[in-house]
Amino acid sequence: MTKQEAKDSFISLEMQGWLRLIDLLYDAIPENIEITEIFEKYANFEVRYKGEENKKFERFVQILKRISSKMCEKCGKLASHTIINNWEQTLCKEHFEEAILGKQMGEYYPEIYPDL
Ligand SMILES: [Zn+2]
Repeated sequence: MTKQEAKDSFISLEMQGWLRLIDLLYDAIPENIEITEIFEKYANFEVRYKGEENKKFERFVQILKRISSKMCEKCGKLASHTIINNWEQTLCKEHFEEAILGKQMGEYYPEIYPDL
């Protein structure tokens, strides 16, 4: 997976706040290691890779994961783990409030537009 493919997938999921983590990750990739997958799991940044064992790189990946647990996935500001309608996200105060408002609107729209 290239850096741009990783970024495109996070942009399509509206998780631009973690693009900096992708930059840091790709700047640190040792020779003989290839990134196979980057995704969000339980509101944390997750990385899968293949290649030679490298403890230093593995520790670095763990650090990025820990940073992501305090970094808004939408904007990169200081954030907390949140759960809205059983959906886990890492959001700053502003994006948490926006998400709450979005969910309320979502419940309302089907009544206005029954075909949606
Ligand atoms: Zn935010």
